[in-house]
Amino acid sequence: MMLKNLSNTLTVFFFVLVSIAAFGQNVDKDIHTDIQKHTEEIFDSLVEIRRDLHRYPEVGGTEQRTSQKITEYLKSLGLEVKTNIGGYGIVGILEGAKPGKKIAWRADIDAMPSKAPDVVDFESKHEGVRHICGHDVHTAIALGIANVLTAQQENLEGTVYFVFQPSEENIKGALAMMDDGLFDIIDPEELYAMHVTPFPAGTIAAKAEEMFSDYKRIDLTFKKTEKEVALFEFVKNKILSLENVASDSKFWNMQNMGDPEIGIAGPKSIYNNYTTVDKNNFSIKETENGTRISGYLSFSDKQQRDSAIPRLKMQIGQSRYANELLKAELVNVFPTLDNNKGLVDESLEQLSGIYGKNRVLRLHGVVADGRSDDFAFFQPKVPSVYFFMGGSNYEKGIIAQTHSPNFAVDESCIKTGVNLFSSLIVERLKR
Ligand SMILES: [Zn+2]
Ligand SMILES: [Zn+2]
Repeated sequence: MMLKNLSNTLTVFFFVLVSIAAFGQNVDKDIHTDIQKHTEEIFDSLVEIRRDLHRYPEVGGTEQRTSQKITEYLKSLGLEVKTNIGGYGIVGILEGAKPGKKIAWRADIDAMPSKAPDVVDFESKHEGVRHICGHDVHTAIALGIANVLTAQQENLEGTVYFVFQPSEENIKGALAMMDDGLFDIIDPEELYAMHVTPFPAGTIAAKAEEMFSDYKRIDLTFKKTEKEVALFEFVKNKILSLENVASDSKFWNMQNMGDPEIGIAGPKSIYNNYTTVDKNNFSIKETENGTRISGYLSFSDKQQRDSAIPRLKMQIGQSRYANELLKAELVNVFPTLDNNKGLVDESLEQLSGIYGKNRVLRLHGVVADGRSDDFAFFQPKVPSVYFFMGGSNYEKGIIAQTHSPNFAVDESCIKTGVNLFSSLIVERLKR
């Protein structure tokens, strides 16, 4: 998960979600019962794998050891394994006994630079590098799913691809894997992934389309002028006017994000239809082509994102700077995550049918956070869903606040991930 701003705001609101996340009743359904039994059997070994990866974290582009461990594990399961795709990217291929659909599961594997001391007793042995975005957990879960589904090979109709992606944090890995022919090697009809979040362990969550109001930059280039100060103030105010959150809105009270009614998982979510402007992040720069003024914004949805530039152009067109504007563009700082609506609806329905509605949350709002995930680069190629998965345990003081120095997870979430997402893949293959 890439992160730009406002990261700590999440912590508070996810506290409130704990109240709506009791464990559901498992439905006793043959293959899903087998999945849960098998997950239970391998759980301790998956925790060991996670802790090993945690001890030896590797930042994007250097995931040699991590990649080797993944390859060894997949080969030990008997899977066909392709390595060194877009750097240290790996694909494991599991052919079911019968022909059918092709489904891919993606896990990111890289760690992050961090000098803060580790909070667990299996601390990082690589100085200045830590798994504080949970990709060690993601990797262990993906290996667990591969193990569980391999045991179900005789019952599987179709093919499952396990994609282990390097370099997520630097936004390079997804593109690198595709540039290196990922979708020539595999041709999935659906693609899934998840990320650990501060939700309570035991839960997963998703929504259609945007999951993050990722950071965008607006660049407005004007003819060179003597009156830069006035132009800068004018443009800054026009960008600020795009903000679409009432100043007295409860939006800014982050505790409301976890509110069961108006929070992001609430049916009356107020975290929709908003645009926020980073008030402390404007710049002016002389370029070869003119004077460029930039500002940073986050949008909850496509409509507001798409209307930002036309609105600015119209306002500037009606001003004394009408003939000075040379270029106006919205630049992706991060790619925009965009979940397939049909797949979100079906996935949440299938999973809540098996694991209970209180473990499978439908989000109604978008986190006002500025971050994203380079999984977004895969999404235009294959219909896909990116899930949030809870990693916190508030009673134990474990808060899975990604990128925070105190990031930790309740390792029971590994079980949740393997169970729910193995079941999901089995159900998706059937359709
Ligand atoms: Zn991440
Ligand atoms: Zn991250």
